[in-house]
Amino acid sequence: MARERVALWRCPSYEAKQVEAAVEQAVAALGGMPAFVRPGQRVLLKVNLLTRRPPEAAVTTHPALVRAVVREVQKAGGHPVIYDSPGGPFTRKSLEAIYKATGMAEVAAEMGAELNWDLSSVEVPNPPGMLFQGLRLSRAVVGADVVINLPKLKTHGLTRYTGAVKNLFGCIPGLTKAEYHLRLPELPLFSRFLVELAQLVRPALTVMDAVVGMEGEGPSAGRPRRLGLILASPSPFALDRVALALIGLKAEEVETTKIAAEHELAPPLEEIDVLGEDLAAVAVHGFTVPPPDGTSFRLFGRRLSPNSLKVVARWLKPRPFFDAAKCRRCGVCLRNCPAQALTLAGRRPDVDLTRCIRCFCCQELCPEQAVSIYRPALTRWFFRH
Ligand code: SF4
Ligand code: SF4
Repeated sequence: MARERVALWRCPSYEAKQVEAAVEQAVAALGGMPAFVRPGQRVLLKVNLLTRRPPEAAVTTHPALVRAVVREVQKAGGHPVIYDSPGGPFTRKSLEAIYKATGMAEVAAEMGAELNWDLSSVEVPNPPGMLFQGLRLSRAVVGADVVINLPKLKTHGLTRYTGAVKNLFGCIPGLTKAEYHLRLPELPLFSRFLVELAQLVRPALTVMDAVVGMEGEGPSAGRPRRLGLILASPSPFALDRVALALIGLKAEEVETTKIAAEHELAPPLEEIDVLGEDLAAVAVHGFTVPPPDGTSFRLFGRRLSPNSLKVVARWLKPRPFFDAAKCRRCGVCLRNCPAQALTLAGRRPDVDLTRCIRCFCCQELCPEQAVSIYRPALTRWFFRH
């Protein structure tokens, strides 16, 4: 079987010429865009447009990277369509605001690329053996000839890391995402679902924005961190494995990559051909990543039984914390909480912890960064590194 390839290219800034050169060279190392796109094909660019934030906030895929990929697709004769279904309602009005704030509207106008306005969805059958017999995907994704995945390297309160595989969650339209969160409240099952979704969507190519990533309280309230890199690969699983090594995480520390490795979708690092930069030489040190979820761990070297785990987890599980000083009572978190665990009577939302499934959609989507993830002192002690 052919070895998986991941191109790892230096890109010190978002200056257009630097990004164009890095994207062109990284994709050329994989055979060039014509290896992935044929003339006349409709090419869906799955960007990360999590929420309405400007490019410098490092929450969304940077427009300079999107512009460079649009250029490559057009050179290969393809028709690029910029797509995401961000968190929250999937409406024309919300898309308009997000396309404008994130720089996508400008890229589309400048390059003659299309912005997706199709809000409809379609049920797609899954192969036997998957968690669900079928998945509801955006029609724009299903109708594309080719999907190119353009994630941003960030941390994530639920999954610890979000990159190539997690970015494809946005192929599920609007609030249907919240339904899947609710049906799969435990991280291992939710992660298996993400892996299966990536297998179903099968992006032909992934180009990751790791020029400036996000560490700490990602995916929207963390700190921008300059890595100065672009990664590209035909395999989202191999790409995530290399990206994790870059930020000092092992495959088994991120559930989606662990599952992909168990299913032989993500080969060991030493069996991946890393093209371009030397991985060890460009690895980032001290990249702050959220600790693992408090549902599965060892105590004094012994794995806790499910029952004792439930008792301990009640005390140790991270939970959303709402900052009254920042909250503007907009209600975005209430409308998007899949478990309907929030109420808003006072100056900030109240969370019913018996209902909360710790998906942290409230933290992802709060426009005021008023939501953080509170980890009790005991949890921090257990998970200290
Ligand atoms: S916590 Fe954020 S999203 Fe929720 S009501 Fe307050 S400002 Fe709005
Ligand atoms: S309160 Fe926040 S973390 Fe809890 S279920 Fe609702 S959106 Fe998810």
